[in-house]
Amino acid sequence: MTMGVVHTVLGPVRPEHLGRIMHHEHLLSLTPGPWLAGGPRPGSSDEDELVALAVSALRGLAALGIGTVVDLSPYGVVGRDADGNNVALLRRISRESSLHIVAGTAVYLEAYSPRWAVKADLKSMTERFLRDAVDGIGASGVRAGVFGEQATSLDQITAHEEKCLRAAIRAQRESGLGLTTHTTHGSMALEQIDILRQERADLSRVVIGHMDTHPSLDYVREVARTGVSLAFDTIGKQNWDFFLEPEPANRPDGEFVKLAYHQSDSTRAARIAALVQEGHVDQILLAQDLTGAEVYLNPGTHGQSGYSYLGGTFTAMLLERGVTEQQVDTMMRANPARLLATA
Ligand SMILES: [Zn+2]
Repeated sequence: MTMGVVHTVLGPVRPEHLGRIMHHEHLLSLTPGPWLAGGPRPGSSDEDELVALAVSALRGLAALGIGTVVDLSPYGVVGRDADGNNVALLRRISRESSLHIVAGTAVYLEAYSPRWAVKADLKSMTERFLRDAVDGIGASGVRAGVFGEQATSLDQITAHEEKCLRAAIRAQRESGLGLTTHTTHGSMALEQIDILRQERADLSRVVIGHMDTHPSLDYVREVARTGVSLAFDTIGKQNWDFFLEPEPANRPDGEFVKLAYHQSDSTRAARIAALVQEGHVDQILLAQDLTGAEVYLNPGTHGQSGYSYLGGTFTAMLLERGVTEQQVDTMMRANPARLLATA
């Protein structure tokens, strides 16, 4: 692969042309947005509407210096179809929004994964990921520019998740792209790193996802000391309310397994300021991981500001806590550009 370029959905771009970067988003999962009013019908699958919704949601970003959005949707969830063919829509969104878009490729938690991915063995999964990087994802012709978000469960890594993580690491090493993981609320980050080490991954090419939602800052520090990068990538999601498994079609009445969680953005901002102070500025990436479904739970953050929340309100919170403009630029421009550029 060509050295030092970023594979966007419209082709290779030099990393210095990306502007600030939102490293973890899901552009085809914005219904019923935008932001509590208007937008297409909930559950709409009309392609024109999906594209129009994303383009309108992205509108404020250029004024905030953001030039690139990375769509880290795995197969079959958060807007990506089970075969990956609808990645082609990201090209339309990129043209119409004038933003660079990079498409990731990954497999999510077992209960949400397409059957073909559950059935695949390690070798065929690795080959699939490599094909995504070289020939394009599904029938879209769009080359993956990064692997991720490659997922593990809350407090466990299932055999399926381990297989897919190993496949992503092998494809990462072969292709020279970067890799971003999904941890469920920061759990199993150190176990992911054990697997990375077994596979002789270059930890400087790896981002451990969702570390902003782990309950303990000391744990986050421990992960940082291994040399990986850390994603504070759910900024604005202060309230979480989610099923651990997909809802069964015929759920019996009564109690069910669901998790509610709170993590304030003032805690996120204070932790980033502390980690920057401690010398980790080159390891931190920022994003919102925004999906339309969560807008209702977070009316005061992205419910109000959509994608502009990180570059606007939240950046101001960082500056108030002593983080400098230059350090924000490192976290939003230099770090993700370095990880996206082919090695
Ligand atoms: Zn995730």
